Formats: sequence, C-alpha cells, structure tokens
Amino acid sequence: MTDFAALGLAEPILRALAQEGYSTPTPIQAQAIPHVLAGRDLLGIAQTGTGKTAAFALPLLHHLADRRAPAPRGGCRALILSPTRELASQIHDNIRGYGRFLGLTSAVIFGGVGARPQVEALRRGVDILVATPGRLQDHVQTGAAKLQGVEVLVLDEADQMLDRGFWPAVKRLSSVMSKNRQTLFFSATMPAEIAKIAGEMLKDPAKVSVTPVSSTAERVEQRLIHIDASLKRNLLSELLREPGIGRALVFARTKHGADRVAKHLNADGIPAHAIHGDRSQGQRERALAEFRTGRAPILVATDIASRGIDVDGVTHVFQFDLPDTPEAYVHRIGRTARAGASGEAIAFCAPDELAKLKAVEKLIAMKIPAEDRRTDAARAEAATAQPKKPQQQRGRGGRPGGHPGHAQAHAHGSPRQAAARRDGGGGHSSSRGRGGRSGDQQRKDRSWREGDFRDQR
Ligand code: AMP
Repeated sequence: MTDFAALGLAEPILRALAQEGYSTPTPIQAQAIPHVLAGRDLLGIAQTGTGKTAAFALPLLHHLADRRAPAPRGGCRALILSPTRELASQIHDNIRGYGRFLGLTSAVIFGGVGARPQVEALRRGVDILVATPGRLQDHVQTGAAKLQGVEVLVLDEADQMLDRGFWPAVKRLSSVMSKNRQTLFFSATMPAEIAKIAGEMLKDPAKVSVTPVSSTAERVEQRLIHIDASLKRNLLSELLREPGIGRALVFARTKHGADRVAKHLNADGIPAHAIHGDRSQGQRERALAEFRTGRAPILVATDIASRGIDVDGVTHVFQFDLPDTPEAYVHRIGRTARAGASGEAIAFCAPDELAKLKAVEKLIAMKIPAEDRRTDAARAEAATAQPKKPQQQRGRGGRPGGHPGHAQAHAHGSPRQAAARRDGGGGHSSSRGRGGRSGDQQRKDRSWREGDFRDQR
C-alpha cells in the first residue's frame, strides 16, 4: 500500500491531505496519479465516491505549482468540465481544499446564475477553472473566455456529458484549446460511444479503472416492499414516522413525481423538500441546507439532482420508484454508505415495476429481501402482468432525452473504513483555518456552502 508522499506529490499538497484526514490513496488515486504526474493523457473509469476528484485534482495542483506561470488573461491554465453545477461546485470546493497551501487561484462557472462576476474573474484569469460546458461556451462566444492557454483539460463524468447533450459544446471548447495540452478523461461507464470520443480526444492515454458498481450493493442493508402504486405515498409517510429515521433521501423517477411526493409528505406534516432540475439554484441550495441542518431532513430527489448531494449521515434511502436503469438503483443505495454509519435502503415496487426489479436483481446478483404489502387486486395484476422489458440502456448512463437515471455513487471501501478515513483519527480539525469547527463539520460545510460564484482564494 502506498501513501501520498510515495506518489511524489508536493509537500503543501501532502499537508493539505493530512488536514483532510486522508492517509491512504484510494485505488483510483494510486493508479492515476503517477500517470498524470508523468504528463500522460488518462482514461479513467470510475464513479463519484471512489475518490476520483482527488485522482485528477492532486496531480493537477502539483503540476500548476511546480511550473508556476501567470494565469492567462481571459482564461485558465487548467480547465475542469463537469456536467452539473452541483458537481462543478463540489469539485471546486475540493480543489480549494487540496490546494489551500499553494496560493493558486480558481473559479467556478455554471449556468442559472448571473454571468457578470464570472466575466470579471475570467478577465483577470485563474489557474484553475471548473465549469459546466454550456455556460463556458457562452463566455467563449462573447469573447469573455479564451481557452488557448489551457495546459490541462479534465473531462469529468463524460458519460453524463453525453447524456445531457453537452457533447457538441465540449467538442467546440476543446477545439479552441492547444493540441499540446494534457487531457484527463473520466467516465463512470465506457459504452462504445464514449470509447470512440475518448479515442478522438486522447493521445496514447494511460487507462485506469476501479471497482464495478455492483459491489456497493453488498454493503448496504436492503429491503424491498411490494406495494400498490396508489398506496406508495401513505406507506412512505408511515415509514418516515418510524423511529430511527435521521436523514432520508427519497428517489422519485420524474421531477413531477418528486414534487408530488414532497407535497404529500408536507400535507402529512413531514417536512420535506423536492430537488430536481427545474428548481432554481436558490431553491436547491435552500433545500440542501435544510436537509443538512435537519430542518427538513427528508429530501425527495430525482437521480440527476441528487448528484450534488454529498452529505454524511443519510440514514435511509427510499426508492419511491424503481429507476429506469438498474445501475441507478446501486448508486442510490450507495448514498447511505457514504456516511459510514449504518444505512438502510428501502425500495418500493408496484406491479408495473417488476421488470425493473428483475433487472436490478440481475445486476446486483442477489434477491433483495422482500415484503408483500399489496392488496389482492395488485397481487392479481402482478401475477397476470407480462413483465415489460426495461428501457434499453447505454451502461449506467440512462436513456438519451430522459433523465440520466443515476445518482452519486458509493464511497470506497467499507462504510466503516470510509468513516475511519473521513475521521482521520480526529487530527484534521482545523483544516481550513476557520477555527472552531470540527473537520467533519467543515467538510460538510464545504459541500454545501455554494455561492453563486466564487473565485480566488
Ligand atoms: P469523489 O469520488 O471524488 O467524489 O470522493 C468521494 C469522497 O471520498 C469525498 O468525500 C472525498 O472527500 C473522499 N476522499 C477522496 N480521497 C480520499 C482518500 N484518499 N481518503 C479518504 N477519503 C477520500
């Protein structure tokens, strides 16, 4: 087992990692960092939760600090493209954390918020820019962003970029960058379409990949309840009233469905918010903040909206609807494993979802312990229903044009190991020099403290 020092990272980065409480590189970090430090292009297959952000961020920071150069006006030295604003914010927070002793500058840019402060930061130029492709392309078109000086390009969650229709924007952005840049390409899945794109973008890349998604399923306590579709809402309220429910994430298949479920819970006196792509940035932030503080400890989310939710202590994951892609089931239940505490995942299955259940159980190679709470009518419906084939999948990414059907993934290692790593023996409590707050709390704050726009350390 290596440690971070053995990977050759600069001392200020090692110091920041020690403060984060990270002692051992995760598998993707151990594999990827040496290649990236050596200047090679990289093709990484890894999901969120595996530590992939640090896998690219650490060598990137090392490179920028090792070869100091002025940030190009209107642009950046390193560009990280992310499919969602939540993920972009999270990556930016991580970069700021890992790079806190390096004195580099950074900014995050995404849509749905005012462009002016972004233009202002671009004008000065930054070392590291994290951006969603659409908004960045707008800035390129107006001439506010100039990307010719990009030395390192990171594409994060390439499969999601494709699913969300960002690929033309990514291509246009990369076409204005220097061909001599280093490119790091990460995707959770590698369907043929992504492999082709990677082949076009990368020069003799080193290839690294980590744990297949299905392993998460082994670490979470799972239950399945067969139930009539019309009775799901009451069942959810009933279960949420049980003792032991701390913070619960409820997954719904559609935005509309998420709204309906949250409304129903509120009507039942259970404080809950819905979070999905049609919510404004402000609404999302409010919902997330109240989820974190426990004011509204129930969050109803669609798969895509849940991607930015990096909160420890999710005690329960409910799947109000089974997802369109079986992989999303695994990513959803993995949200409890992040906490390190014990988590429970409960899925509802209506008669018309039996085919989806079959696909999930095939993927995780186990039968989920089930309970039957259906009415006789629903049982009869299930018995006669010819299971429909679930949607054709492209790997984990879901169907084009629909919601991409996957949530953030599992933490690496066992929940207990993850907890131990996160706690880091308690020796990192002053990681941000903001005094007073525990390392754990700071880490949580970091994930949630999303301003519209942030720049410069
Ligand atoms: P990511 O896959 O980048 O979203 O990382 C998942 C979680 O693992 C984040 O909360 C990180 O802070 C944490 N993490 C990343 N690398 C390490 C490490 N080497 N040791 C412990 N925790 C880590």
